[in-house]
Amino acid sequence: MSRGPAGTPWPVATTRLVVLLGWPARYSLSPVIHNAAFAEHDLDLVYLVTPVRDSDIEVAVHGLGAVGAVGANVTVPHKRAVMALCDRLTEEARLVGAVNTLVWNADGLLGDNTDAVGLRDALTADIAVAAGDRLIVFGTGGAARAVAVAAGRLQTNLTVVGRQRDAAEDVAEVAVRAGAASAGAVDAADGAALPAAIADARIVLNATPLGMAGERLPDPFHELGPGQVAYDLIYDPPETPFLHSAHEGGAETHNGLGMLVGQAAASYHRWTGRPAPFATMSAAAIHALAHRPAPTDA
Ligand code: NAP
Repeated sequence: MSRGPAGTPWPVATTRLVVLLGWPARYSLSPVIHNAAFAEHDLDLVYLVTPVRDSDIEVAVHGLGAVGAVGANVTVPHKRAVMALCDRLTEEARLVGAVNTLVWNADGLLGDNTDAVGLRDALTADIAVAAGDRLIVFGTGGAARAVAVAAGRLQTNLTVVGRQRDAAEDVAEVAVRAGAASAGAVDAADGAALPAAIADARIVLNATPLGMAGERLPDPFHELGPGQVAYDLIYDPPETPFLHSAHEGGAETHNGLGMLVGQAAASYHRWTGRPAPFATMSAAAIHALAHRPAPTDA
């Protein structure tokens, strides 16, 4: 393997590690995104996927620290478990209740969550979100909590839709703690409140996996029109039925690629101290998505 204009052999003895901790972690865009960024800045870092089972996560994190790893991303199912292994947590990680980025530095192991800042930056770049805007999000899992933190940081009004009312209220509470102008919860089965809340929103986000395999959201989510923005956190496929309906109805549409690259850029900044080469990372992600291997059952 070689890198740089001279084509010198690489990796070398000084090359340091950044990894993705997950299980089964079979396919991820993160190595492509981060290795393109490291090459762009000529950094002697390499990003690898390291599948780790639940039972091995603690020993894996301690081992990475012992071998001088610079950092890691953390994905399903370890995002909550690694919190207890960190010496410090950022406020975003505490608010979201999960860690997706680890940084080993002189003070020990820092746990951060860059999903919220990645989404905040993507929303700002894509649709110029303003304080006081009305947002509605479907979902009450980890991604919805990142949406709540981003919505809070942007001082917007957020409605959280879930099939479990108490879970939706918990996510709304996260938005309030993050600075939201207001936040409330609506039951996904409420045939009166849900259509009214969606019609009242400028930005409608999907933070469930519904759409990855062609599933529709509840009907009112398919009735967006001009002046509204449909924002799906899913990026593969690039157009879900939710985004397709919104486009047909005259709404603006965005998929989750901006958030994915945004969270990667924030992690990159944590590990290197440098502003991320966003355009390079984005181009690498788009290219990899277009050329990804076909799914297999193996
Ligand atoms: P999660 O923690 O498992 O939460 C999934 C949420 O979807 C839960 O609220 C769940 O509701 C709801 N849900 C699942 N199936 C449902 C159904 N059939 N009907 C109604 N609600 C349903 O997952 P997550 O980590 O939040 O991820 C959600 C999505 O966001 C995934 O597609 C993921 O790929 C995407 N995401 C994208 C990015 C990005 O960078 N673009 C980042 C993070 C996540 P219950 O709790 O009631 O089951």
